Amino acid sequence: MVKSRIPAPRRPLLLGACALLGTSALLVACDAPGTPSAAGDAAHRSVPPSASTGTTGTADGTSSVAARPTPGEDRETGAAPGRTPAPPAPGGGTAPASPYASPSPSAPGSAAPSASPSASRPATTPARPSAPAPASHVLRHTASGGRTVALTFDDGPGPATGQVLDLLAQYGAKATFCEIGGNAQARPAAVRRIVAEGHRLCDHTVDHPQPMHTQPHERQVAEIADAGSMIEHAAGDGTPIAWWRAPGGDFTAENERIGADLGMKSLGWTVDPRDWSRPGVQAIVSNVQHDLRPGGVVLMHDGGGDRSQTVAALKQLLPWLVAQGYAFDFPQS
Ligand SMILES: [Zn+2]
Repeated sequence: MVKSRIPAPRRPLLLGACALLGTSALLVACDAPGTPSAAGDAAHRSVPPSASTGTTGTADGTSSVAARPTPGEDRETGAAPGRTPAPPAPGGGTAPASPYASPSPSAPGSAAPSASPSASRPATTPARPSAPAPASHVLRHTASGGRTVALTFDDGPGPATGQVLDLLAQYGAKATFCEIGGNAQARPAAVRRIVAEGHRLCDHTVDHPQPMHTQPHERQVAEIADAGSMIEHAAGDGTPIAWWRAPGGDFTAENERIGADLGMKSLGWTVDPRDWSRPGVQAIVSNVQHDLRPGGVVLMHDGGGDRSQTVAALKQLLPWLVAQGYAFDFPQS
């Protein structure tokens, strides 16, 4: 069933600033209690409005699959109308704990204006100093096309990863795991099991900084490169990591280039059932059932908080996918 091949360009290990990051910082970033799934929220709310129109919108444009009139079609921008779980904390929660902490001047204002979007006052608002060039090669399709689906799981490995793997095994499904570097380092057995059972790995940065595009260039390099090293070490040296995924899907030409230089392609998605927000099992299931098209890439989470809804949804989705005639595939690479 799995038709993709691993392109296996391997890059040199770069262990740098990530070594400074303690596990506690990672836990703050990914598992902060109190907020409904800190990592998830933070993760997939992503870019601020002004950036998303240019960045994510264009990136999305690479996939015609995403251009459906479904509500929330651009969910990866995080702009789910009416559902704004997000305290301005995602970036703020992460930054102070990080040795990279930077003022990121544009972040606070853009992250959560309390009133209406700032679009109504463009004349008085200084132009954003850094409207990033959009990414242009974000992958949002399975390798084989046809009636295939690529399941992807972000922010792990975590406590739910074993359950996810059990279910995937039960249905002979293969998936791609976009891991946080520190989580991989903390749970190497889970990473090795993922690989041993035929799944693939994807680099999801060291500590999930958001917005990614406002981070200094050097930090973006370290986040991607060091996570790749941490994941590879956990999995076994030489294990290929073909993709990386920006936190919140916040891909830009800049970080896409960084990933490419490290031998990884940018992995997006076409279906975001918002499982990170724990909307209820049936909501997750029906979102996938409604939004998935052949060749699609589904975003779910095995880490970043309580993932019991995701596991329960997967229990329904896997037999549904099989019944629908979908074959499990990996993303384009
Ligand atoms: Zn994430």
